[in-house]
Amino acid sequence: MGFIKDLGEIYLAGNYQRFPVAFVRGKGTRLYDEEGREYLDFCAGIAVCALGHAPEVLAQAICEQAQKLLHVSNLYWTEPQAQVARLLCENSFADKVFFCNSGAEAVEAALKLARRYAWKNFGPEKHQIVALENSFHGRTYGALSATGQPAYWQGFEPLVPGFRHVPPNDIEALQRAVTGETCAIILEPILGEGGVIPLEESFIRAARELADKNQALLIFDEIQTGVGRTGRLFAYEWYGIEPDIMMLAKGLAGGLPLGAMLAREEVMAALEPGTHASTFGGNPVSCAAAQVVLKIVLNKDFLKEVGLKGLSLAQRLNSLKEEFSELVQEVRGKGLLQGLVLKVSASPVMRFLFEEKRILVTCIKDRVLRFTPPLIVAYREIDALYEALREALKNYPLKEVQNA
Ligand SMILES: *Cc1c(COP(=O)(O)O)cnc(C)c1O
Repeated sequence: MGFIKDLGEIYLAGNYQRFPVAFVRGKGTRLYDEEGREYLDFCAGIAVCALGHAPEVLAQAICEQAQKLLHVSNLYWTEPQAQVARLLCENSFADKVFFCNSGAEAVEAALKLARRYAWKNFGPEKHQIVALENSFHGRTYGALSATGQPAYWQGFEPLVPGFRHVPPNDIEALQRAVTGETCAIILEPILGEGGVIPLEESFIRAARELADKNQALLIFDEIQTGVGRTGRLFAYEWYGIEPDIMMLAKGLAGGLPLGAMLAREEVMAALEPGTHASTFGGNPVSCAAAQVVLKIVLNKDFLKEVGLKGLSLAQRLNSLKEEFSELVQEVRGKGLLQGLVLKVSASPVMRFLFEEKRILVTCIKDRVLRFTPPLIVAYREIDALYEALREALKNYPLKEVQNA
């Protein structure tokens, strides 16, 4: 082991804190390193590999599309792009879709649309955007300015002006922040990077009502929660409250880069020809992959299974909370987006799972272990995760691993 890592350390930017492993292939919920060692993946590329690694149907669709048409400009139409847009609109509140390549780009498109819509209909004064503390919307300047985590701003200011942040689930703070100058409220139904924090239905309802009262748009960032992750196609379905704009990325094309910004027709009309664009956005190969993902995830039985597996995972985590009440504070999440909130540092547990059990999980906000397995994860794999977590918590603080 080590050649890939050594090469990367010489030539790659040091902006990632990487585990000391290089993966060379994957299948289903499993990844394999240079020496053929197997890992069980509860990260899934951070909620990206929805159908698991290298699924046959997806690989086949990608190959077929690659042999037919790799890329043409958005000056022309392509079938995969139009078909994915149709699938998204027929199964959501939206009428129109703009495609890009990533989450941050979808957020940028949404922010630009919100300002442009307000500018066109109400004038330039209406440009304020209200976002949540602890939110995460991406690393480009607009998305970073919406992101309510000052740690991510450090050294990059000045940010884009016109953003205000309020604490999640604080209706009064939201009421104070939203005014006639607000053009949009942007929120994640479950704050993912912020620590797997689900928003309360009353808060989302208040956001909808405040947006309506102030002629502002409600934007849901479903980049992490969308495409089946929570057991519904989109997390907003749990609340029965629809946004005006929604962003998708991560799981949308099952591992290929694709972002989407969806809106009602009247709203999307503000993006007139020439106002926004993306060279690669809605690439035929990515869209061919998204078609496969959506057709599978749209199956009612598939979504029901995701919900049941999510319940099983939550149940397992809750039994850890009971057994280790001195270490575990809370279990949060929905479907296969779950967080185990510890009262102590979570990274020793993450390292133990990696080094001793070869299970991949993510650790956020120091004390939260996040689980975002492929949606096809098996019950026995959830059991394996549970056993490994149980061993880790039993042996906490895991001194021998910390020194390894
Ligand atoms: C990951 C994520 C983003 C950013 O997506 P990128 O593809 O990394 O730019 C934005 N919003 C949410 C909710 C995310 O989870």
